[in-house]
Amino acid sequence: MNQKRDRQFGVPSPALQRMPVYYRRLRQAIEEGVPFVSSDDLGRSVGMPGAQVRKDLSYLSEHGRPGVGYDARSLAAHLEEFLGLVNDKEAVLVGVGNLGRALALYPGFAHYRLQIIALFDNHSDKVGQTVGERQILPVEKLANLAQRLHIQIGIITVPDGAAQEVADAMVTGGIKVIWNFAPCRLTVPGDVLVKNEDLAAELAALSHHITQRKVIVSGGAGREDGAGRGREEHLC
Ligand code: NAD
Repeated sequence: MNQKRDRQFGVPSPALQRMPVYYRRLRQAIEEGVPFVSSDDLGRSVGMPGAQVRKDLSYLSEHGRPGVGYDARSLAAHLEEFLGLVNDKEAVLVGVGNLGRALALYPGFAHYRLQIIALFDNHSDKVGQTVGERQILPVEKLANLAQRLHIQIGIITVPDGAAQEVADAMVTGGIKVIWNFAPCRLTVPGDVLVKNEDLAAELAALSHHITQRKVIVSGGAGREDGAGRGREEHLC
């Protein structure tokens, strides 16, 4: 994704991506009754040193107390506001297959105030079925429903060959944020933000990491043969 577009209020994208993980660690600390959390502790949750955490949080003007750490409740509240977790967000999901169904039934989104209010598919066997009390609607109704209900977020879980047409319908419906799980790059207007989740490419990166570890453990020099390299992303 475009690095510039991924910046929020001047926060670089990698720092932004670590913030929800800090938030999750803080929630855990609060539930355990721990009032202060050190930058080293937060750093362990993202595999980064405490210095990186301090730098990330300085973008929010959050500065922990030396030797004490960050006030867990205060920082969690600040992150909630910054990440927009205090606002209810409504989404639609298109493509109720293996992944779409799992996402539609995932209860964890509620913690982030995200509600998937409508499901769409183009398969006649699926339209009319019920998933978690929501009836699957024909995809032809997507743009109109999104527009009528002022939906902000569209989730794409269709095969890559269908992703662009689904994105186009979302844009027509006024959706401004697309969470795309299809392994391809979408073309959208400049005011639409696309977040791509390429799970297969992530897996390839993990595979690469394991391969490299094996090379280091066995003391071998290794060779550049492309094994484990992420798949090329292609246009939808
Ligand atoms: P799937 O075949 O089980 O489901 C796809 C669904 O999309 C089906 O219900 C199909 O009817 C629907 N669909 C197809 N074209 C459509 C269109 N034009 N409009 C509306 N609905 C349409 O596939 P899946 O395994 O759930 O994967 C979905 C996407 O997510 C794929 O792009 C895949 O590469 C990606 N993905 C899946 C997984 C996974 O674990 N299943 C992991 C990573 C990425």
